[in-house]
Amino acid sequence: MTHLRYTISALALLLAVALPAETYTPQEVPNPKAEGQECYVSNPDAILADSTVAWLNGCAADLDRKTRVEMAIVALESIGEEDPFDFAYELFQRWGIGGEGRNTGVLMLFVLESHDMRIMTGTGIESVLTDAKCSQIMHDEMFPAFKEGDYDRGLCLGALAVYEVCTDGETPEELLAIRSVTNRGRYGEEEDEWSIGEEIALWSMLVFAVLVAIGIYFSTIKKCPVCHKRKAHAVRRHTLIAATYAHAGKAEVTYLCKHCGHEFVRNEVIPKLVKSSGSASGGGWSSGGGGGSWGGGSTSGGGAGGKW
Ligand SMILES: [Zn+2]
Repeated sequence: MTHLRYTISALALLLAVALPAETYTPQEVPNPKAEGQECYVSNPDAILADSTVAWLNGCAADLDRKTRVEMAIVALESIGEEDPFDFAYELFQRWGIGGEGRNTGVLMLFVLESHDMRIMTGTGIESVLTDAKCSQIMHDEMFPAFKEGDYDRGLCLGALAVYEVCTDGETPEELLAIRSVTNRGRYGEEEDEWSIGEEIALWSMLVFAVLVAIGIYFSTIKKCPVCHKRKAHAVRRHTLIAATYAHAGKAEVTYLCKHCGHEFVRNEVIPKLVKSSGSASGGGWSSGGGGGSWGGGSTSGGGAGGKW
């Protein structure tokens, strides 16, 4: 299935070229608990694959059951000019990650644009998941994968390392399997030759992706209200409300007419995010689960951060 990964990467790359990076403030980050109590991952830009999100949710849910440690994982395109420590700290307190009173929360914040990673710990877990340990997890487990562009593997290995520290090594086989799975992908042991059919499928998907990118490009060109020429290009985009899986968002887009130089602003709807894996219930994952919440814990800013 390696070719599928390439296709998805190529598609993601094209979309990344066509669309400006989404910038978040701590209040704009979609809270995974709104999706259900078993949700710990915020992945609004679909940086992580659905299968990765599912694995991370399973890992975090198991950790929560066993140790009452709440692990939030947040993967964002961009936080603009905001300092990653301040961003993580505000998000941690805002959500209240970890049990109230116990303060056993962990926040893993990943920012693609600036290559920032931060593991922030609640005050109740600092003595186990020390600053030095957090730094070691990032440098030994996560950054090597990030440097290869494999953010899914890096975040899984990081979450697994946190799990192992918090449970003192009592890690079930099904979680440990992520290591052998990712290593196989990494060293390409089981890669097979592509068949002609697969190549055709790949190329048609690429052509489709190019058409989608072109479509997105042209959809950002509007008719100028002054000279009425179709020459107004989107030059700036500011997210007012980030779209989530639950609701559509809103963006303020500034257009500049390349014919007469007139500049104008339009509010546009950012479509609701859609799950790519077709769940039978049609729409939500964990249907009927309703919203949950974090435990109400807090942090004093422990942990570690760095760039890969
Ligand atoms: Zn004009």
